[in-house]
Amino acid sequence: MVDLTNLRHAGIGMTSARTRGRLIERLRNEGIKDETVLAAMNEIPRHIFIDEALGTRAYDDVSLPIGHGQTISQPYIVARMTEVLRNGKQLNRVLEIGTGCGYQSAILAALCERVYTVERIKPLLARARRTFDRLQLYNIMSKVADGTEGWPENAPFAAIIVTAAGPLIPQPLVDQLADPGVMVLPVGDREGQTLMLVRKEGGEVTITAVESVCFVKLVGTHGWKAA
Ligand code: SAH
Repeated sequence: MVDLTNLRHAGIGMTSARTRGRLIERLRNEGIKDETVLAAMNEIPRHIFIDEALGTRAYDDVSLPIGHGQTISQPYIVARMTEVLRNGKQLNRVLEIGTGCGYQSAILAALCERVYTVERIKPLLARARRTFDRLQLYNIMSKVADGTEGWPENAPFAAIIVTAAGPLIPQPLVDQLADPGVMVLPVGDREGQTLMLVRKEGGEVTITAVESVCFVKLVGTHGWKAA
């Protein structure tokens, strides 16, 4: 876990504190119940993950473009996926597929011992890494790779989160899930996607649907083919 008080001292967190508070209130009204997740989202400034020109919309509950045809996820969905993954319990080692700008990774870093995150677009990861440094989030390990293959060298993971939607549940991720372990991921195409919860326990894997969602494409060996 990371001591977030240093953010305040660095002066990054304060400017947007009030707008951030309004976003947290909105997420609570939308049904997010895990106060630990809401506290992390209250501490991590979202505006520094996006282009300055979009700064005024940083605390709206919307996804925004981050370049390379990708987006920063909507705060509600970040909160919801983190809440489902935590299920009220402390997270230790988490694997994230689809770093993007790194906002979800940062929220996880505030809540877990260590975050492993994989992004396939190199310049996006380079920028995310600079943001992690700026926020002094030193418990995030990252690499450029096809995340549908997971990160076998660091498996197993008690928790896995995928922030892009593929046509199916990538088998390597199921294999790299610890027992017990939990994974959240969107599955589907542009016509419709469902957030799935995959649980592994006692050698058995169970899959349940959580809710409808809208993500960019998961592109890779166990995802969609690159255009
Ligand atoms: N977690 C981000 C969401 C970024 S959008 C946030 O907090 O806002 C999803 C990201 O998944 C994109 O950056 C996209 O490039 C990446 N992605 C798509 N397919 C991937 C793959 N096979 N491996 C790793 N990253 C992938």
